[in-house]
Amino acid sequence: MLSIISFTLGPVQTNTYLIADPGTGEAVVIDPAERGDLIVGEAEKHGWRIGNIWLTHAHFDHLAGAASVADRCAPPPPVALHPADYPLWRIQGAAPLFGMHIDPGPEPTIDLKHGQILHLGGNQFQVRHAPGHTQGHVMFYCPSENVLFCGDVIFDGSIGRTDLPGGDYETLIASIEAQVLTLPDETRLLSGHGPETTVGVERRLNPFLVD
Ligand SMILES: [Zn+2]
Ligand SMILES: [Zn+2]
Repeated sequence: MLSIISFTLGPVQTNTYLIADPGTGEAVVIDPAERGDLIVGEAEKHGWRIGNIWLTHAHFDHLAGAASVADRCAPPPPVALHPADYPLWRIQGAAPLFGMHIDPGPEPTIDLKHGQILHLGGNQFQVRHAPGHTQGHVMFYCPSENVLFCGDVIFDGSIGRTDLPGGDYETLIASIEAQVLTLPDETRLLSGHGPETTVGVERRLNPFLVD
């Protein structure tokens, strides 16, 4: 079983996901965008313990809440990131490019790599490396629950921008073809921005993927 609570937070309306195995009470925060008080408060309300922070990628809008989550948890949850996004993490997720400054929170200590299996209670998640939006972008796929946390790789009717440092359009399209469109049509896509969609809907209707 997997419980999923979503929040839309921060200056660019980023989706943060608080996920948990309700049987064990173990929880993870995917992309804490802002407002650690809200995220940790929600976990406490359910009696869940946040054991990890998983980052799909290191853009500031996906990690600006990591510090405030960590401050409210004892011990602070370790942060997981793909090493190819560490350079981006070290420059505050490119926040200065947008005229902002953030506290990126605890240094990532868990190196994510393609094919790695992450555990959350009884749930297993495959790490899928999907570069193109950033070089170290990963997605978290839970086959037993038919859900892919896909960050800024693909959105409802759109795809991630590729004009920021480390972005590359052809690479992104190749990642989507290899790591998203190979999944079953009914797979839920929980993106970094905007509403939920599915692999089947995007396969048929996404203007970036349909010729
Ligand atoms: Zn991004
Ligand atoms: Zn984003």
